[in-house]
Amino acid sequence: MTSAGGLETPFLSDTIAAIATPAGRGGIGIVRVSGPDAQRLCSEVAGQLPRPRYATLASFADKDGRLIDRGLVLSFPAPNSFTGEDVVEFHGHGGPVVMDLLLSAFTERGARIARPGEFSERAFLCGKLDLTQAEAIADLIDSGSAQAARSAVRSLQGEFANAVRALVGELTHLRMFVEAAIDFPEEEVDFLTDSDVIVRSRNVEVAARRLLGSATEGSLLTEGMTIVLLGEPNAGKSSLLNALCARAAAIVTALPGTTRDPIREAINLDGIPVHLVDTAGMRDARDEIEAEGIKRSVEASRDADHVLIVVDGSRFRDGWLGTAFGLAGASGGGARKTVVVNKSDILAPALKADIDQCEADAFVVSALTGDGLDDLKRHIKVSAGAVTGEDGLFSARRRHVDALAQACGFIGQAVAQLGDGAAPELFAEDLRLAQDALAEITGEFAADDLLGQIFSSFCIGK
Ligand code: GDP
Repeated sequence: MTSAGGLETPFLSDTIAAIATPAGRGGIGIVRVSGPDAQRLCSEVAGQLPRPRYATLASFADKDGRLIDRGLVLSFPAPNSFTGEDVVEFHGHGGPVVMDLLLSAFTERGARIARPGEFSERAFLCGKLDLTQAEAIADLIDSGSAQAARSAVRSLQGEFANAVRALVGELTHLRMFVEAAIDFPEEEVDFLTDSDVIVRSRNVEVAARRLLGSATEGSLLTEGMTIVLLGEPNAGKSSLLNALCARAAAIVTALPGTTRDPIREAINLDGIPVHLVDTAGMRDARDEIEAEGIKRSVEASRDADHVLIVVDGSRFRDGWLGTAFGLAGASGGGARKTVVVNKSDILAPALKADIDQCEADAFVVSALTGDGLDDLKRHIKVSAGAVTGEDGLFSARRRHVDALAQACGFIGQAVAQLGDGAAPELFAEDLRLAQDALAEITGEFAADDLLGQIFSSFCIGK
């Protein structure tokens, strides 16, 4: 069997089963079965094969005929099912033991326990979902805010994939033109100076860049960002962390270390998951433990998307800006860096003039009174790519952003070749590379190890 993506499906001969509801106790628990044997297993466990897509009350029995539970059975014959195969769902009582017994009723009759994400993987391989939709299922389940859930459901409906396909369609069209020019040189079609082609190419580039912007914003909602707070002791880093958490009002986890270890907080900045890391004070280490703390601070800032260098605004000293940027220099990596002058409520008057002249990103705030924090939050969001903050976003992942950025690069390169004297072969090749990058997003051109990586991160029963 070959999927919509052209992949050979290696395993659809076996039947898989898994508990599809979360572990623990609940009113209802569901075991899902998919594969060529699903209907036979259903007849044996439930004693009957219900009418397709109608909920039917039945008794569930193990191989020895002992009653396990009584509940509803739903049958979805292929191809009208989630996976595209025969699927049967058993809705029983949601206790861990009864669910295990029910699952065993299938495995003892020949079904195999599904791997994590295997139902979604089969749906993808059968062409029921593209890769962005399969990923959107995981993102919807894992979403940490209402905005993230709404954007995941939009991707699940195919909005992101459709936008990618529209770009691929345009690229195909352009390639058709240029390949005709290459194949029929005697026609003397001066392809690369054709104004229609030039306009269309530029439009594709604009559309690709716009989609890259939306995907960057969407991936922020899905994957969030890491912000590291650096600065001298007593500058107010912990207070700032608390103030940002309190205002965001959605602390998800708190993993305190020692005072010299980085402290991590997961907060939610208007729907964007943010991992805030408050590091040990940056100063000359007085003892070994502190030296280790500072080392870890610098390491933490290497993985950051944004480093906030917190300065105590109440203590004026010459060269404060130099100190701040010295800290910025110490924090390696390509992260964005912003100076946050804290304690605006007791700001040293002499500092004011300096700050006004500062050309770097510098924000004056008070962790104590909350002054300036809204502007700082807005700056953090905008510099991460959250430009619109609008409803209408779709969820995306970093791999989509990377692939889109690659496609934009190739399209840009192609557009730069338009004009007199350029070789149509090079133009066509850039468009082809852009198309391949885009096809990786939807999974039409994706390596098996990428698929393995994506689906294995799903939970069982998905
Ligand atoms: P850290 O060592 O950088 O984490 O600094 P802390 O957050 O522990 O703050 C050091 C001291 O500065 C504490 O006494 C805080 O109450 C005080 N502080 C922090 N932020 C402000 C502020 O905005 N205004 C004032 N007046 N005091 C602050």
